[in-house]
Amino acid sequence: MRMPAMIIGLFLSLGVMPSSALANNSERASTDAPSGCQTETARIDQNFPTGAYQSCEVNGNKSFKLTIAPEDEGDINCSAWYAFRVNAARKARITVDLDYTKCGHRYWPKTSTDGVNWEFMKPKYVKVEGERGERSARLTLKVDETPLFVAAQEIFPPSIYDAWLDKLEQMSSATVSLLGRSAQGRKIELLRIADPETTPRETVVLVGRQHPPEVTGALAMLPFVETIMGESDLAKAYRSRFETLAVPLLNPDGVVHGHWRHNTGGVDLNRDWGPFTQPETRLLGNMLKWIEDDPVRDMRVLIDFHSTNRDVFYTIPDELPTDPELFTKKWLELYQERMPDYEVNRDARHTEGRPISKAHAFDVYGAPGITFEIGDDTDRKLIKRIGRESAIAMMETLLQTPEPANSVPTEK
Ligand SMILES: [Zn+2]
Repeated sequence: MRMPAMIIGLFLSLGVMPSSALANNSERASTDAPSGCQTETARIDQNFPTGAYQSCEVNGNKSFKLTIAPEDEGDINCSAWYAFRVNAARKARITVDLDYTKCGHRYWPKTSTDGVNWEFMKPKYVKVEGERGERSARLTLKVDETPLFVAAQEIFPPSIYDAWLDKLEQMSSATVSLLGRSAQGRKIELLRIADPETTPRETVVLVGRQHPPEVTGALAMLPFVETIMGESDLAKAYRSRFETLAVPLLNPDGVVHGHWRHNTGGVDLNRDWGPFTQPETRLLGNMLKWIEDDPVRDMRVLIDFHSTNRDVFYTIPDELPTDPELFTKKWLELYQERMPDYEVNRDARHTEGRPISKAHAFDVYGAPGITFEIGDDTDRKLIKRIGRESAIAMMETLLQTPEPANSVPTEK
């Protein structure tokens, strides 16, 4: 019997049902995907967006071994992503060993049959062995004729963003446009949120998914965006003064290929802000420049959504003057007030010239740059609340800041 573990319904507020989220990825199947493993009982494959393992071995009729490896030989962050599908001929219990070439097991496995509802595997079916970088995992899976997806985090491919953006675009405050394309030609979309009746002159920039496995950051970014698009008086006041430019999926190639960290150029995109050597980051670099060069626009804040082992904001220290002044301090204090049963963690530091989004926004534009990190294992309901409450606190804080001098409307 299937255990009623934690059920996650993504995007219920918008009713997005990404029916194509787990469609076969023929592009991948025909190029670099190793063939699956098959026995009389079950077949394992990775031919769908985000599907990833290096190789599959049959150890017995009901026993498989997957080798999990990073996307390239370069320096890699230990975000050991895996995603695979099991098609069984009949009801059975199989074991799948996850054997890592580097870094060891990190993400608690989740399963889904529809790509929308995910269950965290019950601890008794997950055996993790070894220390730190040497950790491997043995998963015991109950399978039947319904294909079962097993992944490091909820599978969150470009099609989910497409469905979400399609839905948002129906609202009058949203415009979706093509910012540009990734190295492999995938769409990188820009969502602009602003009151259509006014001409906001202050810009908030939101960035997501530079790092493919960092799904919990995306799980916070969506409710964050939905909150500033909401019907509250606060959101309306915010949208009449501020435009929000959101790029929710900056590394679609890495996401589709199930990369641990990089784009297809072998680069960590959040170490490329400044050099802008990659097509994906260059789009953002140009967008920030365009905001700055526009005489009536002014970038007020840049927030970049990520995941790590805990919820934490990486920020510019308060001692370094930003414009708006002390925005981060005021925002996070207000956010903490709104989350009385939760501890808001802030880690403030700055290295000038470090090619990450946060430092670049500050070094070049004087704007508070913030890396918004969500823990890998943070409760999914709490993540929605984090997204919502932090957005409310951001809007309130920004509305209290004085308008920049250059944003005074010109007299007719
Ligand atoms: Zn990251």
